[in-house]
Amino acid sequence: MLNLVLFGPPGAGKGTQAELLAKTFELNHVSTGDLLRTEIAAKTALGIEAKRKIDKGELVPDEIVVAMIKNKLEKNKDVNGFIFDGFPRTLEQAMALDKLLDENETPVTGMLRLEVEKQEVIIRLLNRGKISGRSDDQDRSIIENRITVYCQKTLPIIEYYKPQGKHFEVNGMGSVEEIAGRLKEVVEKIR
Ligand code: AMP
Repeated sequence: MLNLVLFGPPGAGKGTQAELLAKTFELNHVSTGDLLRTEIAAKTALGIEAKRKIDKGELVPDEIVVAMIKNKLEKNKDVNGFIFDGFPRTLEQAMALDKLLDENETPVTGMLRLEVEKQEVIIRLLNRGKISGRSDDQDRSIIENRITVYCQKTLPIIEYYKPQGKHFEVNGMGSVEEIAGRLKEVVEKIR
């Protein structure tokens, strides 16, 4: 199985690129952000709790997202692999993912890190907010908070994957096609 983690700051283009990679390599695309937005739209108890965090630019508790991933893995046993988009976002989530995948004996193949400059990320998110209507993309202070949370809680994950030889940097600046080409090249090498 090919299990990829697509990593990068909010606004790095993870969703777009994950979709393309899922098509190219026939992977199951799992976005915790999308799963949470589905819960919010359905007004479930989980969705209501998650919305409170998302609207402030904070992370949803690990237990919630890990349970969602567990459920996804259990429901999709006969797949070529997964591309995880927006997950893991904390060290605890990275360790929980390894544990869940170990149970299926299919480890993470690699973590692809999209590198995008902070100013570019803010511009992309504000533009996306105008189109998508996502409230967490419309307010500059919420965006700034998401970037701060990313630096404090999510970036340390790099040091988890690096010693395992699973950390791959990809330039996330440029056109969608250019970035997709760079990602594909890395995946071809590590698959
Ligand atoms: P995204 O669509 O990936 O940008 O996620 C939108 C929001 O959902 C984030 O700002 C978080 O509040 C929440 N979220 C998504 N994925 C996770 C995760 N793996 N852990 C915690 N919170 C998450």
